[in-house]
This record gives sequence, structure tokens and C-alpha cells, in this order.
Amino acid sequence: MMDNIISQDFDKIKSTVKPEAFAGKKVLVTGGAGFIGSWLCDVLLGFGSEVTVVDDLSTGRMKNIDHLMGTSKFKLIKSDVCRFKTEDKFEVILHMAGHASPDEYQQHPIETLQTSALGTENMAELARKNDALLLFASTSEVYGDAEIVPTPESYWGKVNPIGPRSCYDEGKRFAEALLMAYGKQYGLNVRVPRIFNSYGPRLREDGLYGRAMSRFILQAQTNQPITIYGDGKQTRSFCYITDTVTGLMLLVQSREAKGEVVNVGNSQEKTILELATKIKELTKFKSSVTFHPLPKDDPKRRCPDTNKLEKLVGWKPNVSFEWGLNRTVEWFSQKKPSTVTA
Ligand code: UDP
Repeated sequence: MMDNIISQDFDKIKSTVKPEAFAGKKVLVTGGAGFIGSWLCDVLLGFGSEVTVVDDLSTGRMKNIDHLMGTSKFKLIKSDVCRFKTEDKFEVILHMAGHASPDEYQQHPIETLQTSALGTENMAELARKNDALLLFASTSEVYGDAEIVPTPESYWGKVNPIGPRSCYDEGKRFAEALLMAYGKQYGLNVRVPRIFNSYGPRLREDGLYGRAMSRFILQAQTNQPITIYGDGKQTRSFCYITDTVTGLMLLVQSREAKGEVVNVGNSQEKTILELATKIKELTKFKSSVTFHPLPKDDPKRRCPDTNKLEKLVGWKPNVSFEWGLNRTVEWFSQKKPSTVTA
């Protein structure tokens, strides 16, 4: 069964997205056992889609989709997205598979590049064969260490092509270029959201997979020091998962979004130190804060300009940072904390 917090949050998405656009559709979700992918599966099934997930469980987790196993209209295929072949037909492909955590993808740079490059080519070919709509999860990382903040889609980015983050950044940039080429050469129906830091229930918190927010929550809840990289003055803009998923689904259902690259994120910019302080307050634990070297090429500021998404599909964020963080801390406190291995 879907847990309570998630099923209540589901209503936020239902109030904005039209279920009719998805009812009865055959949808393939790559990376469907991951954070955003598993939310998409829940929402799609709730809207009456038939959902197939392709996931090799390298970064996704069975516990995100355990409640869906055995449900009619849901199928999991354990496969690497680069090698996945099928004769099944799909009308919509949501290509979400990827390595999102900087600490983790830097340990697997080749797989990270392959998932973006070969995996996206494989999905583009499948979409072409099926005449399907293909949405590809791109990222704010295509902007690298952006010089224009809030960053609009028209900004080309400042990316180190051979740095430690390049496996992720350049892989996603290649995938974007590839899909633009498929659109131009074959008329493929593609949509490319550039997803900014998203958070909420199911954001992975453990070891190398942990992102700053979920890792800090876990550290606070297990009374361990909160590990801040650098001086903590770098910023991120955190978008609650229901707002991210709503943005993605609106892009799928909008005709005008065909061929478009669009930022999806929240523009409330916060420093990492503010994030840590807020988490300490909310969890009411007495964890100390420790400072560690800033990883190379860590972007100094990240904040989306979301005008395009607002104009194109009428999206607006519904969830404030305070509400979303509270909710996320509440969700994590209901789970048994796993051990921190940073
Ligand atoms: N960060 C940190 N401590 C951690 C993990 C991350 O201070 O234990 C910082 C990281 O250097 C970055 C920000 O928090 O500046 C956001 O990190 P996240 O893992 O969410 O990934 P990113 O947004 O860089 O892709």
C-alpha cells in the first residue's frame, strides 16, 4: 500500500493534472524504482495508465515500488536501460533513469555517461518505432556553475567538460542534443524538462546515494554531525516532489510542449547552511555541524527561471520550502533510520 503521506500528497497533483490525458495509456517509465520515477508510477496508475518500469536497481530501490508489485497494470522489468529491448508497444515513454547523486555518479562515471548517452539513444529508437511521446529527465546540471541566476533555458551553461561532474553534465547535454536531432530529423515528439533539486518522501538518504537534504535529515535524526561541504554559502532551490511531478505531467499533456526544453523547479533559493539550520530546528536534535572541503566544480548558485514552464503549461509551485521540508522530515521520522555511511 502507498503510505499515508504520499497518498495525501497525490491529491495535490490530481487537482492540476488531467487524469484523462493518461487514462488507458501504455506508459514506459525508465528508472521507475527511483525517487521521481516511483512517484510518476503511483500517479500514472492512479490515473488509469498501464505502467511498465525498466530499472536495473543500481540506484533505484525496490522499497519505492514494492506496494505496486502484483498490481494489475504494473510490470517491472529488471534491465539496464542501455540494453533493454522489447516488442511491447508504448504510447508514452518517461525516461527517468540516471545516476543523480554527485557522490555516487563520480564513483561510476562510465555507467553515468552510458545511461545518458546509450540509454537515451535506445529510448529514442523505441519511441521512434512506437511513434511514442518521449519525455527525457534532463537536469539543472546542464548549466554547470551558472553565471546567470535565476537561470533561463536560453543560457548555454558553464560546464567543465573534463571535470569530476562532467560524466553527469555532459552525458545529459549529449542526450539533449541527441533528442533535438531526433526531433529535427525524424519529427520525434520529445519534451525535455531540466529538473532542479527535487525533494520529498523517497529521496534517497543512504551513503553515497544521499543528497544533501535527505542526508542532513538522517544525520540529524541519528544524532550525527551534519556534514557541510565548503562554507555552506552555496545555494540550491528545492522543489517539493508533487510540484516537480505536476510540472512533468503537464509537459506530457501539453501539445505546445512538443520539442521544448523547459526548467522544472522552485525558485526559492536557499544556502546549504540555511538548509542545515532549518533541519536541525525541525528535527529538534542537537547534532553539530561540521565543515568539509567543497567538492571540485560544485556549483555556487542554482536557481531556475520558471517563466517558460508557467507560460507554457500554467504551472505554479504549490508547496513552500517550509511546508515541504516539514513534511519530508515527518516522512523520514516515520521510517526506521538506516545507518549513515557518507
Ligand atoms: N552537500 C553538503 N553536504 C553533503 C552533501 C552535499 O554540503 O553531505 C552540498 C553539496 O556540495 C552541494 C549541495 O549540498 O553544494 C547540494 O548537494 P546535492 O547532493 O543535493 O547535489 P547537487 O545539488 O550538487 O547536485
